[in-house]
Amino acid sequence: MSHTDEHLKAGPSKEWNWHPDLPVAVTPLFSWPPNPMATIRWFATNWLPMTEFMIYALMAWATWAWLVPPLEQMQHLSWGWVLQLWARNLILMIIFAQGLHLWLYGWKKQGDDFKFDRRGLAKNARIFLWDDQYWDNVTYALLSGVTIWTLYDAIVWMGYANGWAPMITVKSNPIWFFALFLLMPAIQSLHFYWLHRALHIPWIYKRVHSVHHRSVSIAPWSGFSMHPVEHIGYMGLLLIFLVVPAHPIHFIFMGYWLALATATSHAGFENLVLGDKAHLKIGSFHHQLHHRYFECNYGNPEMPWDNWFGSYHDGSPEATDRVRETKKRMHAS
Ligand SMILES: [Zn+2]
Ligand SMILES: [Zn+2]
Repeated sequence: MSHTDEHLKAGPSKEWNWHPDLPVAVTPLFSWPPNPMATIRWFATNWLPMTEFMIYALMAWATWAWLVPPLEQMQHLSWGWVLQLWARNLILMIIFAQGLHLWLYGWKKQGDDFKFDRRGLAKNARIFLWDDQYWDNVTYALLSGVTIWTLYDAIVWMGYANGWAPMITVKSNPIWFFALFLLMPAIQSLHFYWLHRALHIPWIYKRVHSVHHRSVSIAPWSGFSMHPVEHIGYMGLLLIFLVVPAHPIHFIFMGYWLALATATSHAGFENLVLGDKAHLKIGSFHHQLHHRYFECNYGNPEMPWDNWFGSYHDGSPEATDRVRETKKRMHAS
């Protein structure tokens, strides 16, 4: 674990147009000695108000209530209902990523307020499809991302429809129903951390994960812009619902948390400014650091995996030096 005594207040710096208070905050749930007040504050500010987490939970509930094809129909594979799932995923991805893109980069509704990187999207850069970061990112996200997401959706829905996937109801398991909501971000964080570390093994990085990392200055569409092999691994977490007893709302939520939240975590802005005072926390400086310095912050702030496994970048220059050394070592052989 790295310790920096200096605490930097949020604002601009030489390296960033804006950064949050540093060191970068991660969940204090596992701090030693325990810090119950900070833990309560973390959950209260991250989860209680209208947060992203709540938005996906409500969307998952609404989807289950109105937008899921009848289970009997999904007992057998057919184009009709699979295309229906695909269209829904496609439309939601476009609403989230393109909506944020227009607000923040197209119409620049909040200027550079809370923007991390001074740069914008790359244009005329040969490494991207059509030499353009935006169109490159959109293509990978929709063509590969939404398709693979929908394939996993189809498998798990067939599992629910045919009884291979263990399904609970709120009435049958009320405590597990709520507990699983709290556990899902931790499970996702664990899966993401180890998958992501594997993706950074130089051989795999070169062939697969480099697609995602061509976007150094990230924007909403960059998040779901991955090589198909990475999509298969990343969205593959949905298959846990074939073994973990859950309500379909959990499964729908997890799909949104995995796919749609890439648009917010890569927004490149810490907050969405809505009106004079209202801010919705969207971006992730934690992951922004990963895109700039690569060999650090493989996980997310929901769980302190990086702190535990020595890959945490807290945003300080000392951490940058340390990460540069790691990177040299990893890529020397
Ligand atoms: Zn990476
Ligand atoms: Zn990323």
